[in-house]
Amino acid sequence: MTKENLFGKTLNELISVTKKLGMPGYSARQMAEWLYGKEIRTIEEMTNISKRMRNLLSAEYEFGLSEPVSVAESRDGTRKYLFRVSGGNYVESAFIPDRERATICISSQSGCKMGCIFCMTGKQGFQGNLNSNEILNQFRSIPEFRKLTNIVYMGMGEPLDNLHEVIKSLEILTGEWGFGWSPHRITVSTVGISDRIREFLENTRVNLAVSLHSPFEDERRMLVPVQKTNPIKEILTLIRNFDFDNQRRISFEYIVFRGINDTPRHIRELARILDGIRCRINLIRFHPVPGSELESPEPEELIEFRDALTKKGIFTTIRASRGIDIQAACGLLSTLKQNKTDR
Ligand code: SF4
Repeated sequence: MTKENLFGKTLNELISVTKKLGMPGYSARQMAEWLYGKEIRTIEEMTNISKRMRNLLSAEYEFGLSEPVSVAESRDGTRKYLFRVSGGNYVESAFIPDRERATICISSQSGCKMGCIFCMTGKQGFQGNLNSNEILNQFRSIPEFRKLTNIVYMGMGEPLDNLHEVIKSLEILTGEWGFGWSPHRITVSTVGISDRIREFLENTRVNLAVSLHSPFEDERRMLVPVQKTNPIKEILTLIRNFDFDNQRRISFEYIVFRGINDTPRHIRELARILDGIRCRINLIRFHPVPGSELESPEPEELIEFRDALTKKGIFTTIRASRGIDIQAACGLLSTLKQNKTDR
């Protein structure tokens, strides 16, 4: 019999476990404290729970952590971890140290259905959703866990296509009974699924990043096929009208393709469509993927583009490219080979 994992359960789910096993109600908080507040890895180590109760728990549940299968280290210090998940699939996560910041970029799906033309995960197709255990294990089971300052859901997959498990993982990360993280240190990135964005905004307090990549609908449709059914216009209207907490950050991710989406016409249109939205644009240099004719801009072209947007009054930053030599940079994560070879 496969045992269920305790790690990845919300407080309410842990309360259900205590009811099912006839444990005292307060054991749910005790379990949460061991699962999310301490560095143990087995039910046996939950020493303030009676031996008899631990035996009952162990008969049906596992603690639920699993180590990464492998790690690759970049010249720039970025580390890419490979994790095995259910269905014989794999996902990758990237640990990105940067002076006083230490970020983990985690995956929410193995593969992805969205088919963005610049992305290796998109080329891989979709193999499966991760559950909250598998999402959070990428954060908890790396050796740098204690050093982490930021979490970004920007790895493999579209988080809002797996919204239920993503919200659950965020509840555990930010709950006072969970990891107790500030929501302002967590960002979820989406390609833009309009009907899920509202649900996401209403049910979480973390930052939102929307992949924009072009202010023109026809051009965006070519880069991001989801534009056909989820026009960016609708998403901008939703964001413009949403009642945001002042500390919640909204950003637009913009991968720059040389000569395609970095012209003066784009600058003018970006200023027009983002007018009235308190946000920032995060520019990302395109990292070439096999079979794509799109080109990367030179660093100075990227700076020029940033400065032109800044002059238009849009707060614009450039995201440093990290882990290119180990295929850990934006758009390069893929486990197609591992998913196929392990079957
Ligand atoms: S960019 Fe994101 S949404 Fe698009 S295919 Fe890649 S993983 Fe999926």
